[in-house]
Amino acid sequence: MNVPFPFDNSYARLPERFYAKLPPTPVAAPKLIRLNDALALQLGLDPVSLASPEGVAVLAGAAVPRGADPLAAAYAGHQFGNFVPQLGDGRAILLGEVIDGHGLRRDIQLKGAGPTPFSRRGDGRAALGPVLREYIVSEAFAALGIPTTRALAAVMTGEDVFRETAVPGAVLTRVAASHIRVGTFQYFAARGDVDAIKTLVDHVIARHYPEAAGAENRYRALFDCIVARQAALIARWLCVGFIHGVMNTDNMSIAGETIDFGPCAFMDAFHPGMVYSSIDHAGRYAYANQPRIAQWNLARLAETLLPLFDADKDRAVEQAQASLNAFSEHFQRAYTRGMRAKLGLLTERTGDLELGQELLQCMADAESDFTNVFRGLSAPDADGARGQFKDPAAFDAWASNWQARLAEDGGDAGARVIAMRAANPAFIPRNHLVEEVIQAGLKGDFAPFERLMAVLSKPYVDQPDAARYALPPRPEQVVHQTFCGT
Ligand code: AMP
Ligand code: MG
Repeated sequence: MNVPFPFDNSYARLPERFYAKLPPTPVAAPKLIRLNDALALQLGLDPVSLASPEGVAVLAGAAVPRGADPLAAAYAGHQFGNFVPQLGDGRAILLGEVIDGHGLRRDIQLKGAGPTPFSRRGDGRAALGPVLREYIVSEAFAALGIPTTRALAAVMTGEDVFRETAVPGAVLTRVAASHIRVGTFQYFAARGDVDAIKTLVDHVIARHYPEAAGAENRYRALFDCIVARQAALIARWLCVGFIHGVMNTDNMSIAGETIDFGPCAFMDAFHPGMVYSSIDHAGRYAYANQPRIAQWNLARLAETLLPLFDADKDRAVEQAQASLNAFSEHFQRAYTRGMRAKLGLLTERTGDLELGQELLQCMADAESDFTNVFRGLSAPDADGARGQFKDPAAFDAWASNWQARLAEDGGDAGARVIAMRAANPAFIPRNHLVEEVIQAGLKGDFAPFERLMAVLSKPYVDQPDAARYALPPRPEQVVHQTFCGT
């Protein structure tokens, strides 16, 4: 069967020093785990041919479809604060780009597709567990309405990969607005290649930020746009209790999508200092540090653009600083807006943010479940929220302030409940559920994966049959650490 992809590969037309061109490495026995039919249709791809043996061969990297121009992209990055001048796609191959149903250009990339010139010590492969985790969490993000890369498919390779032990190998087909990262700019800056940075800026403006095209200084305009989008994204993360886990500059998308779901996690019990990643010993990427880290990463991006901001070095630094300072304002505004929606507030009053913070403090003291407190507030009597506090007195004190604020806010109570339910999900990919799906998958049983995906596809809708998926973990189910698994 012919597997048609309407490719138009703009990144592959950039100069040769942007990538290494090579095809994926074929695998022994491709087998489809899951195809995202709805996403395929959005991309103008045919789900039936993608699920056919020829389609699965493409999704496993065993066959290259017509029109593809496969490549591994070059990039650098700060990993845990240390600069690495060359990282690059060490286990991912960009097949090409298609234009989706909204007219947006989307990358189609195979993650786990075999070694590339950027592989360094790795094997270029991906293990089943991390592939399932990325599939689940990225699609949960999409259903929550938070900007993210997507998962088009997961396939088994029929080959083992060696981590601590031998584990089944898999390939994830990732879809993204692009895979350009802060680290892509850093790669060229580290080489003093200003021409490449100009080329990259033009590409990024055309692709992601056309609103910066007409500006007097396109470099500064682009940077301002990136800062704003990134601030809005991090505010969304905080509002759902998400911890990315590896906010290295190579894992920050220029397009403002959440990318690289490694040792990430949604919090159960709320704590601002929460860390899950096994490799984040110092808590650099803890929940509440994420805005500060995003700003730090953007400062690294600004450094790559300084010569283009202004020929005068001092003026360039001044401008970069002003743009970076705007991050805090953008973030505060987006986060406050998000918190108001979570609390059911339609009007704006000073003190709203503090009201939210007082609740978070009560939750931290009581180790309350982040998701269930806010979902509980969204019920007409807010009783579900109260039940999340071992000693409800602190919550009651807070709730009377909240009720007073709601009374002042006015509006229709029924409409408020509907709006709050649309801002406070009932279902998130809880760690213990993801772990359960992975353990079943390792035994060849993907039915739990299918069931979890069905529940997470409607995160804001009460699903009485799925009540189990809304429960916090029992003590013995708590996942304390997450791993990259690379
Ligand atoms: P990540 O931790 O996925 O953001 O990856 C950081 C860097 O390590 C990137 O350059 C990856 O391409 C590379 N990398 C991660 N896992 C592997 C692997 N299994 N084989 C080769 N390179 C890898
Ligand atoms: Mg990465």
